[in-house]
Amino acid sequence: MIISKFGGTSVADAAAIERTTGIVRGRLARRPVVVVSALAGVTNALLGIARQASEGNFISAVSSVQALRERHLVEVEALLATSDEHNEIGAEVSVIFDELASLCEALSVLGFITPRSLDAIAGMGERASSMLIAAAFRARGIDAVHVDARKVMITDANFGRAEPQADAIAIAARRLVAPLVHDGKVPVMGGYIGSSMDGITTTLGRGGSDYSASLVGAALQAESIEIWTDVDGMLTADPRIVPTARPIEQIRFDEASELASFGAKVLHPATIAPAVRLGIPVWIYNSRNPGAHGTRITFDAPRRAVTAIAAKRETTILRVATGKMLFQHGFLRRVFELFDEHAVSVDVVATSEVSVSVTVDDSAPLDVLVGALRQIGDVSVERRRAIVSVVGSGIADDADAMGTVLRALGHRRINMLSLSASAINLTILLDDADVPDAMRALHAALFEAPAA
Ligand code: ASP
Ligand code: MG
Repeated sequence: MIISKFGGTSVADAAAIERTTGIVRGRLARRPVVVVSALAGVTNALLGIARQASEGNFISAVSSVQALRERHLVEVEALLATSDEHNEIGAEVSVIFDELASLCEALSVLGFITPRSLDAIAGMGERASSMLIAAAFRARGIDAVHVDARKVMITDANFGRAEPQADAIAIAARRLVAPLVHDGKVPVMGGYIGSSMDGITTTLGRGGSDYSASLVGAALQAESIEIWTDVDGMLTADPRIVPTARPIEQIRFDEASELASFGAKVLHPATIAPAVRLGIPVWIYNSRNPGAHGTRITFDAPRRAVTAIAAKRETTILRVATGKMLFQHGFLRRVFELFDEHAVSVDVVATSEVSVSVTVDDSAPLDVLVGALRQIGDVSVERRRAIVSVVGSGIADDADAMGTVLRALGHRRINMLSLSASAINLTILLDDADVPDAMRALHAALFEAPAA
């Protein structure tokens, strides 16, 4: 059994759903369980509607509901025109939007929204898409069964970012999903949504469908989990900056995590941790280019010096120096206490005997923090920097790779340098303006150089 999860762009409209149907048909022998996102953009639209309604803009909220209903009915029409389920699915989809319209009315009277009502609304996209897609599969000869994800994805009641309850999910998945698979059917369920122990709709947080796929995969001990999206997997660099970037065939989970926190956005590895922990491989594929190899994320792929490079822009460096640090203890503790007190999160740290340099987001509120830091040392603030990460689980053991990186950077100014404790990320702070050029130079030297 495998889990095939299709993101919003893979189910954006009838044409995308046709492609997705073809992909699922090609995998029937592997007994797929299908997890789908809302049609692309629908979750954002729903959250916008909830805001409009709770701000008292009932008329505009209702016209947005109408537009969303139309959008879904157009796809029902396109996908099910000749199906005998056409009317029934159209009516069921409509019921969801009727429910949405009455919630909007209530919200606009109340003038505020609770996290619980927000989840009820946010989850409607997946409720509609999963129903529609299951029917589209059936109309194309796939024996698909819609499963209400809320009966399977049991969570706590932390609305907006509910915590899945692994044991309850395992029991529900074995009871409601596994038997369908054994009967040769294809279960289709929405990602992202769940329900609390007492049956109230919850969501797992934005982008949560990957998490759903991983949790169901772990619960059913799937052979593999496929995340279908609109890019050819993870790439060696951001192709908008480095046009020669190429897909990574295999990446370690720790490398993928490191890349995600430093700029790469294909998926958040934390969401696939439940599967990876059990040794279930997770694949990222492109539903627009299903023949491509894709990226395989595993716990123990072979170590490579460099797997990918990424840049995180809009970074500020804070440097705190004190003569008093010489032969003293407690200085670093004091510095980081102040970051903690002011709730400013730190990305990269480098220290010398008399100073410490840390990076923070350009958007971090620094005024008060800097004032406090000045009590303990000289502070300088450097804006418009960027973090360049060279990620590879073998980088610390490869002197050549490190040398190549520094040579490729040439005369560009290096503001800070750090090798992460896990030793899989060589982090270099450059001037932001140097990033595009430096990334291309690094990519050329690390991935395009002819083998020696
Ligand atoms: N539809 C939800 C979102 O846009 C969940 C997902 O697509 O993963 O956040
Ligand atoms: Mg999405």
